Amino acid sequence: LMDEREGEEYLFKVVIIGDSAVGKSNLLSRYARNEFNTNSKATIGVEFQTQSMEIDGKEVKAQIWDTAGQERFRAVTSAYYRGSVGALIVYDISRSTTFDSVQRWLHELNTHSDTTVAKMLVGNKCDLEDIRAVPVEKGKSLAEAEGLFFIETSALDSTNVKTAFEIVITEIFNNIS
Ligand code: GDP
Ligand code: MG
Repeated sequence: LMDEREGEEYLFKVVIIGDSAVGKSNLLSRYARNEFNTNSKATIGVEFQTQSMEIDGKEVKAQIWDTAGQERFRAVTSAYYRGSVGALIVYDISRSTTFDSVQRWLHELNTHSDTTVAKMLVGNKCDLEDIRAVPVEKGKSLAEAEGLFFIETSALDSTNVKTAFEIVITEIFNNIS
């Protein structure tokens, strides 16, 4: 049988937010190009990367946006959020202040986007177990309270990076189909 929706295109805008230096740009470069940069400045300047995945035999493209350093001014513009259907809210498990900021980022996201946006709370740098400052349980319970997916990742050693993006993209796809 011919799939009626064959040839249909799926393109989803996904934004990455969170404090400066939590690893947003590296999560994106690891996912889209399998690259990691120790010098964070080297990753500034790219607006978005497009990455495809297959769900139910359909090609689904995600246009994933990076703040390109705007977040240093503690907020990103409404244009950044416009049209987004997915979001990764990132903190650094070795710095509690970045976890404390998550509520503020969520508030900004909720102000600028639809409530149906698929949201993933991401505790990045899980390779830094020795200097962990945010227990896994804290991330889990915040995510539960706010209705977010939750995952810990490492852009450095690749742990869960692909999974984090793919859960969000799959959730968006399931929401519309
Ligand atoms: P952004 O400001 O949120 O975009 O953060 P960057 O991606 O520029 O990363 C900030 C710094 O953290 C850089 O020095 C990266 O090399 C480092 N970094 C990013 N992800 C990881 C990670 O998963 N583990 C470790 N150990 N360092 C990371
Ligand atoms: Mg960056």
